[in-house]
Amino acid sequence: MTTLASADARFAPAVHRDRLRRAALAAAARGIDALLITPSHDYAYLLGYAAPAMERLTCLVVPADGPVALVLPRLEEPLARHALGELASDLEILAWDETDDPTRLVQSLVGAARRVAVQDQMWARFALRLRAALDPAELVPAGHAMSELRGVKDAEEIERLRLVADAADRAMLAITGERLSGRTEADVSRRIRELLLDAGHDDAGFAIVASGPNSASPHHAPGDRTIGAGDAIVLDIGGVRAGYASDTSRTAFVGDPPPDFAGLYAVLRQAQAAACEAVRPGVPAAEIDAVARDIITEAGYGETFLHRTGHGIGMETHEEPYIVASNAEPLVAGNAFSIEPGIYIRDTWGARIEDIVICTDAGGERLNTTSTELYLVD
Ligand code: ZN
Ligand code: ZN
Ligand code: ZN
Repeated sequence: MTTLASADARFAPAVHRDRLRRAALAAAARGIDALLITPSHDYAYLLGYAAPAMERLTCLVVPADGPVALVLPRLEEPLARHALGELASDLEILAWDETDDPTRLVQSLVGAARRVAVQDQMWARFALRLRAALDPAELVPAGHAMSELRGVKDAEEIERLRLVADAADRAMLAITGERLSGRTEADVSRRIRELLLDAGHDDAGFAIVASGPNSASPHHAPGDRTIGAGDAIVLDIGGVRAGYASDTSRTAFVGDPPPDFAGLYAVLRQAQAAACEAVRPGVPAAEIDAVARDIITEAGYGETFLHRTGHGIGMETHEEPYIVASNAEPLVAGNAFSIEPGIYIRDTWGARIEDIVICTDAGGERLNTTSTELYLVD
């Protein structure tokens, strides 16, 4: 997607001013002379509105030291000024005409920079031109500096994550209360998207419905398989509301689960709960992964837990911090991430439980509050 799902990621102007200031500090701390941020979630995070990503260059220039500038095509200027509101007066807005070279404008702003960071999803056409224009400056990704900011949510962001998690919970409760057998995965997925919107999402992002043997495929694309008795069903759903994402998984079973599935599910539930309980500031992300993985491995299912334990969430469904064995970074208060271990027995069945958890000074706080028990459905 080149445009953002929900344009309304806006906070008070003071919040965006503070984010711009902290972005400059994060750049300075890394020896970066300027951040070049093209339309993306980073852009919307800093400015509060989603500019269109397109063939004409729009670029926010945040120097480590000095005034922030916004280079944009002249036809986008009215939209930008309107969306920025009073924040516009904080920026030097440089509009370029159709026959101008916007790369030159950026070059004139960053001048003799030695190290410039470009937004991670900047289109190659811009990144390559900038590299040539800014030579011999070194170009590095801006992602590390930006995720340092975006990875720590403030109270208002946590409130938005709470509201969107609550909306996803309501959709989950509604779908697990319906009769699922006799319907195709695709039908149930469509129904979930409707429920996500009804519950308050601006955008129904995704609705994985993986039934029977398909439940062993973590990112199964819902298809024309008809759900029936004896099926495990992994439901993984989420969307965006007011610029912030939801993502929750629950597992359902049609009829009475046989003992081996019930046993597997009990292990998974214990692992997921233990990982949630292990959350607190200072604990490395890798350790949260290990808590879940060790329980699953000791029960003999280690090989079947195919993926990391979780991912950060905020404006994007997947962002830092990643809850993975290779991430030794300690958690900090304000981190928001999923805890979603799964057990997948190929060609047979699978299960996953996923909650969004906030790391607070008092420990992990789950934003998803629906039961993690197996949902027995008709
Ligand atoms: Zn996933
Ligand atoms: Zn997830
Ligand atoms: Zn998910």
